[in-house]
Parts: sequence; structure tokens; C-alpha cells
Amino acid sequence: MLDYHLHLWPHGQRDTAPTVEELAAYCERAEAAGVREIALTEHLFRFVQADRLLRGFWDDEPDPSLRASMAHYWDDHARADLDAYVSCVLAAKDAGLPVVLGLEVDYYRGRMDDVAALLAGYPFDVLLGSVHWLGAWRFDDIGDPVSMAQWSARDVDAAWGEYAAAIGELAGSGTCDVLAHPDLVKAAGHRARAPEECWARLVEAALSSGMAAELSSAGWRKPAAEQYPAAGLLERLVAAGVPLTTASDAHGLPDVADRSAELHRLLDGLEVRTLRAFRARRAVDVPVDAPVARP
Ligand SMILES: [Zn+2]
Ligand SMILES: [Zn+2]
Repeated sequence: MLDYHLHLWPHGQRDTAPTVEELAAYCERAEAAGVREIALTEHLFRFVQADRLLRGFWDDEPDPSLRASMAHYWDDHARADLDAYVSCVLAAKDAGLPVVLGLEVDYYRGRMDDVAALLAGYPFDVLLGSVHWLGAWRFDDIGDPVSMAQWSARDVDAAWGEYAAAIGELAGSGTCDVLAHPDLVKAAGHRARAPEECWARLVEAALSSGMAAELSSAGWRKPAAEQYPAAGLLERLVAAGVPLTTASDAHGLPDVADRSAELHRLLDGLEVRTLRAFRARRAVDVPVDAPVARP
């Protein structure tokens, strides 16, 4: 098993400099849960380098309350130094910890070439591609009343359609390696009447881009109350031959490798025997249960 989606800081917490000891504790907790390799995948938007590149991406959002909410959220997050983060993860690798260097990258319409150019300057092993917002609407931010009120104001089916379109565009940009939490649009508990239409577009996005898809336990900690992706989407991804990673999306030590045994059972049920790991953004398929060879 892998835990290929890990953060250092909870949302809303002021960022402290990461340490190798902190990563060693993540590895220890992962190992105890049968997870052999972890990827640190902090959000790109937590770093001042992203602030310089992407600040104001929300300016064309027509709803002033969503614009203001995103500006506030951004200011609250874009504070850490990407170079210090990368150095720390590389030091952990050098110390022999089973860690790879990753990042969780949002979809910024029309700006992905700039994002790719920034990231090309760093030795990433794996880049997760995520859609957490449509325009400036953070549809999964269940702690934000402004964002959650939108679910009553909008058509749920249309939101799912917009989400699938954004995932398609993100995949088409070729910027990232793994579709993180593929059906995140359900996070707040709102489900399309016919999710199969959205699922088909998500499978197509993975197939046409060659991206892997993430099997994540994080949905169990949200109103969605199930893993990402839903069983029906997971079956379709596996049937289509899309490779998988496994992940907790922990934002701190307690959730590292969360419910890895449940994820393992889902893989067993679909007879999935390999997972996709990454080295320097190249795919390496590894047996679900075997240790991952170190470079
Ligand atoms: Zn995410
Ligand atoms: Zn995440």
C-alpha cells in the first residue's frame, strides 16, 4: 500500500517550517498501517511562489461574495516557502525514509503553462491534479458558509457537469500525474441524479491523459461518507485499466494512512494487485503488498 497524498499543515494553521523528524513520524505511522511508501503532496497554493504566479485568478468570478471569500482564503494560505518544503523532503529521502516528493496542484484555467514552468524547476516525483473550486467557488469547503450556501443556490447536476469539465481540462493540460480524489464534487454530500454521466467523463479524462487515479479514504471524513471514488466510479476506472494510487489526504499525523485496511479491501474486491508509484514523474507499478524498491 501507498499513502500518496499527505499534507504538513491543517487548513487555517499558520505554516511552520517542516522538519525531517516530522516526516519520519509520518513514515512510522504509515509503516504501522502497512503503507510502504508515502508522498508528501502539499498544496501549491500554500507557497509564496504560487502567490506571485497566481494571485488574483479569482478576479473574473462574477459573484463578489465568492471573490472576497477566495481572496481571504488565499491570503490565509499562501505563506510557506516552496524551496524549504522541497529541501526538507529531499533531506528525508537522503536520510533513507520511504518518501517521495510531490505536490497537489489545482486547476487554474488558462494558467497551467505558467504552473508547469514553475514546477519544472523542482525535482518532483509526482504531481497530483485537483479541482477544489469552480471559478472562485470552493465547493468542498464545508467549513465556509459562503461556499456551502452556493449548494442551495445552484443546480447540483450542473455543478457536477462543471466539475467534470474542469477535470477534463486539467487532465488535458498534461501538468499532473494523478487525479486526486476523483469525485471530490460529492464532498459536501450533494449528489447528481445521474452520476454515471460525470463518471464517464472522469474515466475518459484519465484514459486520454494517461493519468492514474487516487483511491482515497478522505471522503469518509466528509459528509460524502464514502471513499473517493464512489464504488461505481472505482469499478469503471479499474475496468478501463486506469492505474491507481492509494491515499489518506491527511493534513496532520493522526490521519496518516487513515483506513488503509479498508482501501486494501476495496482493491481486493476488484482484484487490483498493483499500484502506481512514481520516481521523478515516471510511473513505477508496484505490487499492492510488497515493499517498494528504493532508488
Ligand atoms: Zn485535495
Ligand atoms: Zn489534499
